[in-house]
Amino acid sequence: MENRRVWRTHKLNRIWRHREAAELALVLVSAGNCAVPGTGWNQAEISHATAPNSSTAADAAHQALKFCIDCPVINECAQWATIDRYTGLAAGSSWIRGQEYDPNTTINNPRPKTTAA
Ligand code: SF4
Repeated sequence: MENRRVWRTHKLNRIWRHREAAELALVLVSAGNCAVPGTGWNQAEISHATAPNSSTAADAAHQALKFCIDCPVINECAQWATIDRYTGLAAGSSWIRGQEYDPNTTINNPRPKTTAA
């Protein structure tokens, strides 16, 4: 009986996550700075994902994440990346399975993002 309850809770959480992520994705697509065609975002994100070293990763991240600086939906974007367990660039950071990392580091050798002043 306990296993059944745990299984049901996990299933409901998964359904909730998918719904939340889908709703947030709609907001990002309609209002995000990177959703405008011609930004070069996709190519920069691919370059970051395949960067062989931190210097290349930093260059690629800069090309993409400059759009996040004044993006009106950056908070929703960070929420989406967390809930969707995203891997890639979003909301001014690098993400791996929903965890935030320093975008100036590679996906294969990430460093946690420090926000301390
Ligand atoms: S915060 Fe950055 S990644 Fe997110 S929607 Fe805006 S421009 Fe795109």
